Amino acid sequence: MVVRTGEQYLQSISNRSKVEIYVMGREVKDVTKHPFLKPSVMSFKATFDAAWEEDTKELGRAWSPYLEEEINRFNHIHRSPDDLAAKVKLLRKLSHKTGACFQRCVGWDSLNTLHIVTTMMAKKGKTEVRDRFVEYLKYVQKNDLALAGAMTDAKGIRNLKPSQQPNKNAYLRITEVTKDGIYVSGAKANITGVAATEEMVVLPTRAMGPEDKDYAVAFAIPTDTEGVKIVVGRQLNDARRMEEGEIDGLPYFYNHEGLVIFDNVFVPMNRVFLAGEWEYTGTLVEIFSAYHRQGYGGCKAGLGDVIIGASADLAKQIGVDRASHVQDKLTEMIFLTETMYSAGIAASLNAVKMCDNCWWVNPMHANVTKHLVARFPSQIAQLSIDLAGGIVGTAPSEWDLKNPKLKEYISRYLQGAEDFTAEDRLRMVRLVENVSMGVAFQIESVHGAGSPAAQRIMFSRLYDLNFAQEVAKKLAGRKSEVKFTSKAEPWRESQSEAEAKEAGLKS
Ligand SMILES: Cc1cc2nc3c(=O)[nH]c(=O)nc-3n(C[C@H](O)[C@H](O)[C@H](O)COP(=O)(O)OP(=O)(O)OC[C@H]3O[C@@H](n4cnc5c(N)ncnc54)[C@H](O)[C@@H]3O)c2cc1C
Repeated sequence: MVVRTGEQYLQSISNRSKVEIYVMGREVKDVTKHPFLKPSVMSFKATFDAAWEEDTKELGRAWSPYLEEEINRFNHIHRSPDDLAAKVKLLRKLSHKTGACFQRCVGWDSLNTLHIVTTMMAKKGKTEVRDRFVEYLKYVQKNDLALAGAMTDAKGIRNLKPSQQPNKNAYLRITEVTKDGIYVSGAKANITGVAATEEMVVLPTRAMGPEDKDYAVAFAIPTDTEGVKIVVGRQLNDARRMEEGEIDGLPYFYNHEGLVIFDNVFVPMNRVFLAGEWEYTGTLVEIFSAYHRQGYGGCKAGLGDVIIGASADLAKQIGVDRASHVQDKLTEMIFLTETMYSAGIAASLNAVKMCDNCWWVNPMHANVTKHLVARFPSQIAQLSIDLAGGIVGTAPSEWDLKNPKLKEYISRYLQGAEDFTAEDRLRMVRLVENVSMGVAFQIESVHGAGSPAAQRIMFSRLYDLNFAQEVAKKLAGRKSEVKFTSKAEPWRESQSEAEAKEAGLKS
């Protein structure tokens, strides 16, 4: 079965005796039953359901030339700008279904990144790496696997390179190479959805030099490989999931992140894509980051929709929906949401052809998308708090609402307009609280796919300031060396495009 159902995915991850996952100090084997992880598993499951549900089926599937069959789009290699736009649209729709991060994009972006980088490597003579990757890709597509993308290292002292760190394992490194494979030790941090995955694709997190070659490592392994330990992180309000309620513990769908420890882990050679080839790390990081930054224009816009809807409903519940300032705030939220989405779509439709049937996002638009996402969700959240009222931070618990001694009072005093009950209000308030102030909308929006400074570095690399200055000098009537070309944008070529040209992949 190439396109799995959500149920098939659940079955597959419920039975993993070798997996080593810790939640709040205790080991967990069945992630599908654990209250802390179940919401995250359900979000992951939505990516499988999307390939079967009527409204998402077309976006949720793609045709694989490797298998000559239909596959789940989350394991697809983008073959056109329309494919890239379909990614952004699918992510927006899935946010509507989950109200959370559904965690499957990092693995998807990792596959597309390795596809381009190993194609470059093949052009430069390393055809065996490309062959290994294609075999792995087919395996993933054929089995419709749930992948994590593990790039971010522990990183120790940020301004030191991997080889300069006092802690030699601050970045994941190769400790031994044998004829059969490599051994690695170190850790990857903040890895989205990892406990709910079947495989993880591991990539280097920064550009490296020859002195860092032990750290230039990329590979894929099953999540339950011996020596891999996953420590699931805490989140705001996470203990509510351990309660047996259905209003306060609302995140039936949610996401999690984990610290992944590699304790002398063996990776067989057929799963190794980089082992010391430091010269590809800069390009790899640039390609991955741009793919991941583009996607945020879809999923965060989708979460924006959920918050806009909840805010409009709450305004009705308390009878302020017609007030001009309320309308104006909802309009502002729409503007912020649609701006993020527009940038994601622009990054897709102005895509860059990197090789035959393989497309990368537009790097400038993709970086702009993520920078907007680093700013706008906090503004949207502020407006939603304004419209929801203080109750969003002070509401009584669902246990109070259900307590016979309190129920009548709370029902009376929490109710606003007659068409709604106190429970209607409490449910919507909890939704605003969980989505607008949750990790996916606030913290991931800032740091996911790189902190804001990383995007600003890309703007200044990609924007041709000299060209803009020469244009200005000409218009001001000063001596100018401007050379107009057919290109509208004052953009320089990215490092990755230059590498692809040098490798003979693109003209
Ligand atoms: C919710 C969430 C989900 C994530 N999911 C994934 C995932 O699935 N896979 C994955 O690989 N990663 C994931 N990440 C990690 C993400 O890519 C990193 O958080 C991001 O790259 C920032 O790294 P950091 O967290 O180590 O922050 P830091 O590097 O500690 O950044 C803190 C500050 O220091 C600054 N800084 C850092 N280095 C330097 C320097 N050399 N010079 C000057 N300033 C510097 C930054 O700009 C920032 O302002 C996720 C992160 C979050 C929050």
